[in-house]
Amino acid sequence: MRNKKRWLGLALSVFIAGAAAGCGSENVVHRGEPLSIIDTQSDSQSYWSTTQHKIAKGEQVYYLLESPLAYGSSSATPSGAACKGYLSYIDEMTMNKHVLCNKEGCTHRDVDCMAYLDSTYGNSIYYYEGNLYLYRRMSDNQVYLYKIDTKTYQSDRLFSVGEADNELGNLHMAFCKGSVYVYRREGSADGINEDTAALQRYALDGSGQEMIYTHTAIGAEVCGVKVYGDKVFFLDWEVTKDNPVKYKGLFVYDTSTGTVQTVSSKNVCDYTVDVEHQNLYYYVAEEGLYRQQLQDGTYKKVYAAQKGQTELCRISYDGTYLYMDNKMQVAYREEPKEYALYVCDADGNVLTTMNYTKDLSVCFGDAAYLFATENNTVARRIAYIKKSEILTQKEWTVIY
Ligand SMILES: [Zn+2]
Repeated sequence: MRNKKRWLGLALSVFIAGAAAGCGSENVVHRGEPLSIIDTQSDSQSYWSTTQHKIAKGEQVYYLLESPLAYGSSSATPSGAACKGYLSYIDEMTMNKHVLCNKEGCTHRDVDCMAYLDSTYGNSIYYYEGNLYLYRRMSDNQVYLYKIDTKTYQSDRLFSVGEADNELGNLHMAFCKGSVYVYRREGSADGINEDTAALQRYALDGSGQEMIYTHTAIGAEVCGVKVYGDKVFFLDWEVTKDNPVKYKGLFVYDTSTGTVQTVSSKNVCDYTVDVEHQNLYYYVAEEGLYRQQLQDGTYKKVYAAQKGQTELCRISYDGTYLYMDNKMQVAYREEPKEYALYVCDADGNVLTTMNYTKDLSVCFGDAAYLFATENNTVARRIAYIKKSEILTQKEWTVIY
């Protein structure tokens, strides 16, 4: 009898949900698994885009890897040595750029400059608790994690994170509680070969490592790792030949219990967390933006995807506004009608839209600035918009 009642209840609620969905699904509330995030003042900087990690935030500065293209050549060294770039920083107060080198008389144009990085380094730069972290491929064909002290500028090789494949740009990282979480975005799109998506933890003091998550399938890859408090969130998807992306869902690794939990098995393409209000936002391919209350697990759609424009979006939250960037659309579907960044309030209402050209890549940013990089054949520029002017400003200020 009890079972019968539960069945009836379930059927009824499905019917109500279905009926409501037919007339605009925005107000339907669902319930997922509860989750709590205790923010331990983590230095994880999960507001940055995980695909464009060209900038990292330090103390009152933003660090970046300045391309030699900024100097008008493919190699900034007179000797013609293969140059990846120069470590630089932007002062948060003045937004002026400086090279990360205090060598007397240095012109910052050669291999002897303290900021010089040769082509064995990767393109991404990360900051965690006073140090910069970069990947570097060495002659033994291993990729090592390098740490650069931002006070002394001293560089240290830490440990290998595995063999080097073709592209260092496929290797990413995220930091939580003294550990670095390493993942490779290398799912082959040939539709034939199996890949193993993996998320691996390494203690920064070298005291150990462990595999957190693996999944083997054609074109499998772990991506979009972001840390909030003591939780490490990640996405898992399969890149196949015919159907560009098969999303496996959003997962979370609890560093306190050492367990992995499914947060959503929907087709999540990106997500962000407002820790202060305990809200998780996630973007479901072809559906739109959902907001989930972490503690009770209730969720609902707050923005409906527009066909051909916002079927796929990367998202970020800066403490005030939500940002949805539709450039992801081009990677997995086709070009959007217009490349656009949507600035929304916490309820998913679009407050302003900023259109941009396809050369631009939005990096998102913190509460103070929104950043973007521009890549084309003649320049590699970096630009920003002040967050205090985000609703009115349509022009980017170019740093270089
Ligand atoms: Zn120098």
